[in-house]
Order: sequence, then structure tokens, then C-alpha cells
Amino acid sequence: MTLIPLGEARGYVVERCPPRSPVARPIADALGCVLAAPVVAQERVPPFAGSAMDGYAVRAQDVLRARADAPVRLRVVGTLAAGGASETEVGAATALRIMTGAPIPDGADAVVIVERTAPDGDDGVLIQEAVQPGQNVRLAGSDVDVGTEVVSLGTVLGPGHLGVLASVGVRRPLVVPRPRVGVISTGDELVDDDRPLEPGQIRESNRPMLLGMVRRAGFEAVDLGTVRDDERLIERALHEGAATCDALITSGGVSMGDFDIVKVVLGRVASMRWMQIAIRPAKPFAFGVLDGTPVFGLPGNPVSSMVSFALLARPGLRRMAGHRSLDLPGVPAVAAAGLERKADGKVHFVRVRCRWNGSGFSAEPVVGQGSHQLAASAGANGLAVLPDGLGVPAGDPVTVVLLDDPFAIA
Ligand code: AMP
Ligand code: MG
Repeated sequence: MTLIPLGEARGYVVERCPPRSPVARPIADALGCVLAAPVVAQERVPPFAGSAMDGYAVRAQDVLRARADAPVRLRVVGTLAAGGASETEVGAATALRIMTGAPIPDGADAVVIVERTAPDGDDGVLIQEAVQPGQNVRLAGSDVDVGTEVVSLGTVLGPGHLGVLASVGVRRPLVVPRPRVGVISTGDELVDDDRPLEPGQIRESNRPMLLGMVRRAGFEAVDLGTVRDDERLIERALHEGAATCDALITSGGVSMGDFDIVKVVLGRVASMRWMQIAIRPAKPFAFGVLDGTPVFGLPGNPVSSMVSFALLARPGLRRMAGHRSLDLPGVPAVAAAGLERKADGKVHFVRVRCRWNGSGFSAEPVVGQGSHQLAASAGANGLAVLPDGLGVPAGDPVTVVLLDDPFAIA
């Protein structure tokens, strides 16, 4: 089978992962979702002119000449807290004690902050500073006016956006729902718990990893368990998964072995494309559609599974979730050690620890680059991209695809 370029495989996947239909979601569930329709404010924020400070609402003209050494006395006609509404008007030579967030009473046009005042007798206050009309007043609509587009189509909703939606009374924005992604491991050799291993058995590790990668990428992860290399069982698990999830990820059974049963079953029940991609690790990969549900067939080798999720499944799932930017970010870095390789027609993705060194990123390969050496790769936060050739000598530039936050590395 001829090797195909990564870009071709990725393009094939992404094209077959259309964005899901938008739904109205409570804002509490919408963090990280992509907004499917612009939100235009139907209300002003703030809804009324209110005080920006704790102090006294006054008529600016009454305190024109107030100074610390020549205060102006006003009569206090009441107190107003946030949430209240005053019926008392502020007339000539009067003031209303007011708290931050309370509406400015009729007649008043400015607020003197409490620090520039002193009580005077039972019903008076000494104003020690002049204020301009409008000072310490937040005007109605000064944050958001009616008709303003507050969050645009395609925005990935962050915490601030959720607050803005709430501020204009939008409780259920229209978003692209996160895909529910089912993860299935396959293999007769796999043991799911802590029982002693029989000869030939290994402990299953891809499912916890892939479920974590799904969740980390912002999707809903559904654990569909480990299935033995049995055609009937695998077929049933796949159909059940396709019926309950928006996308399926399988690990194992997609390469050229005699017992690569996932390949046999998917070849029969789904429209699949089997690929050998010109990358290392993660050469074998399958993608197809089963009962309308995209299926990502990842290789069983744990590091290959990790890399093919990052480079192939994640972009497809992000497209389903309505994202426009699909790929993990690539940053320029400098090789902290030589990243040697042989020419073999493939692009190599070397697992590295990528760190900020004060002026740029450095990339240091982890020790243990075998596709079964998950322990080493787990400590990596990036994939150094080595195009076909002889690699990158220490000190030379290299692009690193970030799997994780490079500032969070220990
Ligand atoms: P396969 O792709 O099924 O041929 O598996 C390739 C290699 O990955 C074999 O050594 C498997 O034992 C191993 N492997 C497959 N699935 C898993 C898994 N879920 N956890 C850990 N290792 C696995
Ligand atoms: Mg297998």
C-alpha cells in the first residue's frame, strides 16, 4: 500500500466530519462551545444610570466650590443601596447617600465618593471635593447598547462571553453542541483491571488516555469498554456505539495483522478508508462512516494512538464541534539536543518537552521514542516535526506541535 501524505489523510477526515446542528444550550453548559448565531443585545447594560462608587449623589452645581478646607454642607435626604430605587428627588443643597450599583436618583447628576465626605450632625454631610456632572456615574448602555452585537458567530465561548450573554439576558445561546465521542479498545491481550497478568496479557492503557484526550479537547467522552478480537462482539459494540455517540474512536486492530478484526468488521459494515500515512509514529489509520457516525480507527500502539488522535481525530472532532481552527498550534523552537533520523519517506513526530527559555521555545526529545513507550511520551508536551531527511542538529530551528501548555511543564 502506498503511503499517503498526512495532509491528505487529514483533509479526507475533516471533509467527512461536518459541523453538528446548532442547539440552544444553557449558558452553564456552553463553556468552550462555538456560538452558532451572533448575539445582538436587546437590552442596555447597565440598564439605568447608576453609581460607580459608594458616596453621595449630588447636584454638581451645588458643590462647585467644595474643598477639603472649605467643605459644602448638604442635607442628606435618604440612603440607597444597589437593588433599590429612590422616590426621593435630590433637590438644591441636598444629597442622597448612595452605594455602588444603585440608580442615580432624579435631580442628582454626580456622585462624591465617601472618602471625600464627612458626616455632619444628624442629617448633614460635608462635601470636601467638587465633582463634574456625570462624575462617578455609569450611564445606561455605557457597556452595551441595544442592537450591539456582543458575541459574534463562530466565537469559542469563554468565561467572559458567558458573563456577557448573561448580562444581556441571553440564557440559552445557540451553539454547536460538543460531539459525544465513544472510545472502544480492542484486543484479546488486554486486561482492564489490576488482576495478575497471564502469559501474553498486557494492561489496557489506550482507553484512559484517549478518553482523557477527548475530554481535554473539550468533547464529551463516552467509555465503551474493551472488546475482544471477536467479529460478532466488535460488530455489536460498533453499532451500539454509533447509535449512542456522535463519533467513535477505536484503538487496535487496524493494521496488517491476521487478527486485526476491527478492520475486518468495519470493512464489512461501514464505508471505510484504510490508510498508511507517511508519518512516524502512527502510520496505520482508518476512517469511515458507520450508520452516519464518523469512526476513527486508531492503531493500537499507545504512542501511535496518542499521535493519531492529536493529528487526525482531533481536527475532525473539532470541525464537528463547529471550530474554524482545527489543528493543534505549531510553535517555532530550537532543538535542545540533536533530533536525528534517517530518510524514509515519512515525516517524523518526535515527542519532546517544549519549554520557554525566556526568549523562545526549546525542544528536548524524551528518552524512549518507541511507539510502545508510552511512559516516555506521557512526559512530552509536544511533537517536533521532522520532515523527511536526516533530522535537525542541536541548536537548529524546529517546529513543535503543542500537545499541552508549554508554560505548565514541570
Ligand atoms: P494492534 O494495533 O491491535 O495490532 O496493536 C498494536 C500493539 O498495541 C500491540 O502490541 C497491542 O498489544 C498494543 N495495544 C493494542 N491496544 C492496546 C491498548 N488498548 N492498550 C495498550 N496496548 C494496546
Ligand atoms: Mg490488536
